[in-house]
Amino acid sequence: MAAVRLVILGRQGSGKGTQCARLVEELGPLHISTGDMLRSAVAEGTELGRRAGALMDAGELVPDDVMIGIVAERLAKPDVAEHGFLLDGFPRTPAQAEALEAILADNGVALDRALNIDVPVGEVMQRMLVRGRADDTEEAIQRRLDLYESSTAPLVAWFEDRGLLAVVDGLGSEDEVFGRLCDAVQAADSVGNGVSA
Ligand code: AMP
Repeated sequence: MAAVRLVILGRQGSGKGTQCARLVEELGPLHISTGDMLRSAVAEGTELGRRAGALMDAGELVPDDVMIGIVAERLAKPDVAEHGFLLDGFPRTPAQAEALEAILADNGVALDRALNIDVPVGEVMQRMLVRGRADDTEEAIQRRLDLYESSTAPLVAWFEDRGLLAVVDGLGSEDEVFGRLCDAVQAADSVGNGVSA
């Protein structure tokens, strides 16, 4: 299979991180996680990190223009052309989705699939409280889940309109969910899906 270009969607706590690692190992794209990029920037104390850190702690979104700039720069690199990508955490708003479409068109490539790992809200809240990451206070979790509903959930419809969406049931064992994700990517491949640039 040629370089695969995927977006992965799913509420925080949907198992996205684990499944991304497995998809990368199985299919070979670069894992581009905007959350990881921002956390590195915070750790390094860069200008971006200083701007983003407080917003992240509060569970707020970093402004679209900042995020779009970061992703456009990353996707323009030659390693992405060679290996493809698994975009995780972006797009998170309709404006970011529009920008992604434009960035890919500029690069002369198309998205193969947007994978949505579907896990009910009550279940992800439980999972995140157990996980106990530093930015996982109950308030921040609630805020991120609210934001997910208001800003990110419309993206599901956006990808569906473009024939790119695959909804994958996120309940069950890690292996079961992984198998469903691989099937969804395979299905995209066999029908030659993808938005032409
Ligand atoms: P994540 O690891 O994807 O949950 O991202 C952690 C935090 O980084 C989020 O709660 C946001 O504050 C910020 N962030 C990551 N990606 C984006 C994005 N595409 N747009 C806006 N904020 C983002």
